[in-house]
Amino acid sequence: MSATRHTRVLIIGSGPAGYTAAVYASRAMLEPILVQGIQPGGQLTITTDVENWPGDASVMGPDLMVRMENHAREMGAEIISDHISDLDLSQRPFRASGDTGTTYTADAVILATGAQARWLGLPSEEHFKGFGVSACATCDGFFYRGQEVVVIGGGNTAVEEALFLTNFASKVTLIHRRDSLRAEKIMQDRLFKHPKIEVLWNHEVDEVIGTDAPRGVEAVKARHVETGAITEVPCKGFFVAIGHAPASELIKDQLKLHSGGYVWVEPMARPARRLVAFLRREV
Ligand code: NDP
Repeated sequence: MSATRHTRVLIIGSGPAGYTAAVYASRAMLEPILVQGIQPGGQLTITTDVENWPGDASVMGPDLMVRMENHAREMGAEIISDHISDLDLSQRPFRASGDTGTTYTADAVILATGAQARWLGLPSEEHFKGFGVSACATCDGFFYRGQEVVVIGGGNTAVEEALFLTNFASKVTLIHRRDSLRAEKIMQDRLFKHPKIEVLWNHEVDEVIGTDAPRGVEAVKARHVETGAITEVPCKGFFVAIGHAPASELIKDQLKLHSGGYVWVEPMARPARRLVAFLRREV
């Protein structure tokens, strides 16, 4: 059944940013509505140990997100299981359409839609997605027990994925396009010490090689960035961990964006003050 709900503050997204916004907006008595999206809790729900959340030396990502959701609820935020598929910022109040048929009207919208995993963009990567190519070790690592896998990337995600995969795989090769990683030093230390992990420096992946019947990955073709020499690295699983792209689809034709797709924002002080002044008028 279609319905229209009005709120002063509509928060779109249920990662740490969304729940934090919900806590603050609730405490400001703005009675926010938070729409969770397709993956309630966001990316932390598909990770394992989080060791850099202040106050917890180690906490599981999914547990942390349940705590954040409960916190926002206790502060008074209304949390709705729905997915916003359209947002119209051309008129006030702003209008958002949910997949459930509900229309949300709002005096202010907080976009907390986060980001999604980036892919290399290779046709062979697309062909084997879900058949050996993955962007989530915690989701798919289990399928590679006793097998060799490759991870590509040099950031925290890649190192974390490589370390996690050692729980299942017989060997993990981390392929990185430079000769140093950008991951935190403590993570690098764990990676370099791990007997199952090998790093292939200065290489990019050009192609995923596999079979079609049954569809599955057999190797990746890696090219040395300077010499062009090709190395075939055998693997049954290929994990892409090369960063994230902002989920800015909803507003891409309505707001100014940076070239990377992130929303261009004015320096913080003025818009924040203006938003608070605007909302106070409505209280
Ligand atoms: P990052 O942007 O930090 O790293 C992306 C990596 O992928 C870089 O090493 C980059 O190489 C490489 N890369 C990018 N494009 C390509 C390409 N086309 N081909 C090959 N390699 C490519 O992304 P992450 O997802 O790792 O992390 C995002 C943020 O989240 C960071 O701030 C990170 O610290 C944080 N994070 C924190 C965690 C934690 O604290 N537990 C866990 C996971 C993420 P190059 O280095 O050459 O640019």
